[in-house]
This record gives sequence, structure tokens and C-alpha cells, in this order.
Amino acid sequence: MSFSPDLRQQLSTAKRIVVKIGSSSLTDVDGFRTSREKIDQIVDAVAVRMRTSDVIVVSSGAVAAGIGPLGLSSRPHDLATKQAAAAVGQVHLANDWGASFARYGKSAAQVLLTASDIGNRERARNAQRTIDRLRQLGCVPIVNENDTVATSEMHFGDNDRLSALVANLVGADALFLFSDVDGLYDKNPAQPGARFLPEIRSGQDLKGVVAGDGGKVGTGGMATKVQAARLATRGNIPVLLTSADNIGPALASASVGTVFHTREEKHLNSWKFWALYCADSGGAVRIDAGAVDAVVSGGKSLLAVGVTEVVGEFAPGEIVDILGPEGNIIGRGEVGYSAEDLRRIKGQQTAQLPDEFRRAVVHADYLSNFASRI
Ligand code: GLU
Repeated sequence: MSFSPDLRQQLSTAKRIVVKIGSSSLTDVDGFRTSREKIDQIVDAVAVRMRTSDVIVVSSGAVAAGIGPLGLSSRPHDLATKQAAAAVGQVHLANDWGASFARYGKSAAQVLLTASDIGNRERARNAQRTIDRLRQLGCVPIVNENDTVATSEMHFGDNDRLSALVANLVGADALFLFSDVDGLYDKNPAQPGARFLPEIRSGQDLKGVVAGDGGKVGTGGMATKVQAARLATRGNIPVLLTSADNIGPALASASVGTVFHTREEKHLNSWKFWALYCADSGGAVRIDAGAVDAVVSGGKSLLAVGVTEVVGEFAPGEIVDILGPEGNIIGRGEVGYSAEDLRRIKGQQTAQLPDEFRRAVVHADYLSNFASRI
């Protein structure tokens, strides 16, 4: 392909990559058991790339792979049976990944995460350290959501999103999303006239795309992939989206699929990305329109004078949601005061406050906003 050779070159030589594989690319035709043949094909391509890059795999398929072994006739819908299927299927997945990588003398390592694991900074760092150590030891981390304990309220949503968060957590240089479609089209590729989109530079390129911004119902699950890709690019990680059938050329030369560019002016550093998209928040602070302008457009710290309401109980150092005048979330940040102290000083000018309360409520360096929302 002749387009965006620089980005494709960058993707093909990135040193640390996250490779996300969807359920249908890991399971048999019914989608009820792991397919060792498909896993071997994936591992063959990953093993080649591992000669030059560190690879972290995000593997779906736990629920699907548990259906057959449990003797169920279809994909379960209730949470308890889904979790039971995931518990069974995860064993099969781990076994197959392990046996397949063993052909190359590599150990596969199972890393199961919940949203609350990475919502807490300490635990997120812990996961990051473990993955890093596995990498140094030459193992291949195989990450999935810990489906057996994730609840419907507290989960990542889907593994596309998980892969973007993991890519940020491990400081990846590129994210590869593999599913059963060879890339992004402007509408369902099964429809006549669907146009293939080789590269996405900004939200503009997604205008009119059925799976584009705005979260319209996805085509073949494309909406979650596009959202995950744009999430990763917000953290400065370029993305290649294609089918698992294309994994060989995708990992070797990035010559296939749709690529998503990063945009310098919209980058968030790793902490700000974590605060905005991963962190558990301890409460919320509502601010007035002037303060919204100061923190969003002005890049300023949030001061007590702009705070109109304090929601919940939190301690200094916790992450809080920052709400606009209408109660809509505009960002998140590390709060400098307890909820109790903040209730006492909200709405007051800094100069009127005693010395110990003259610091920012949320310092600009620890305030992350959705202004350049993806
Ligand atoms: N964690 C789920 C599983 O392993 C997959 C979720 C997803 O594919 O988005 O079955």
C-alpha cells in the first residue's frame, strides 16, 4: 500500500506492541471451543515479531471457549452462567496459548485484570510491574478481563477497550486489533458500495462512517474497535485494525488494514490518560462556567472559588470527577483537599482563605479533561 508509509513503517518496527485477538479468531466454527489451529496460526506470526519486539497479547474467547466443554447449546446470557463459562473457557485458552507458544520455546503467562485493578493507581502499577518482569523473562503475557469476578457494573465493557488501556499501562508503541473484518469501511462491508478506509487521521475522517464517532450501533462490532483505536491514539499509541487472517503481513510490515494516527495536540501523558479513562473516582466536584473555561481552555488549576458543590466523601489525593455547571462530567483530577475541607472553602477567593487553604483544589498537572474528547 502506498498510503501513510511512515506510520506503517512505525507500526512494523514498534518495539513494544499489544496484540488484541477477538473471540471469533480463537474459536472453532461454532465459536464454542478454542481452535488450536487458529491459535497456532496467530502464534506463528507473533513468534516472528517477537524476534524484534516485545509482544503482549490481549485474548478474548474465555466465555466462548467454555460453552462447548460445559455442554451448553448457545452463548449464555445471564451473568452467573457467563462467568462460569469464562472460568472453564479460560483454562482451555491458557492451555492452548501455552502449548502453542511452547513450540517456540516461549512461556505464556496468564494475566487476568478487572477494571478495579487498574482503577487503583497502586494496583495498576503492580500489574504494570508484573507484565514488565514477564517481558524481561522472555514470557508472553496473555491478558484478559477477569470475567469470573467482573460484575456488569464494574467491567471494562469489551476487550477492545481493555487492550487500549493495557497498551497505555505497559507503555506500548503500537496496538494491533485483530477481528474478523480486514479493516474499517464506511458502512457494513457486506453492503454494496462499502468503501475501505485505509487510514484515520482524526475524527473528521470518521464523519459519515456508520461505526464512527457518536457510538452508533456498530457494524460487526466495529464501533467498539474504532472507539478503542481512538482511545489508544489519545494516549499517543498508533493502531492497526485488521482481520486475524491478515496477522502475518500486519505484524511483519503493517501493509494491510486500517491505521489510526496519533495527534500530537491531543496527547495525554500516561498519568492523565489513566486518571481520565481508568481511575476509580472517590467523588465529584461541581464547578461554575468560569472555572470550566479556566481549566479547559486556559489549562489552569482548579481553585476553590470555582467550586459550587462537593459530592461524596473523599480524602486528599483521591481522583474525583469534575462536573460542569449542568452536572456533566468534563474531566477528572487528583484532589488536594478532603471533601469536608472543600465544603468549607468552596466558592471563596484564594486571598480570603487562611494560608493552609491557598493551594489549588486540583493542580493543572493533575487535571485531565475531555475537551479534546475522542
Ligand atoms: N473477556 C471476554 C471473554 O474472554 C471477551 C470480551 C470481549 O471480547 O470484548 O470472553
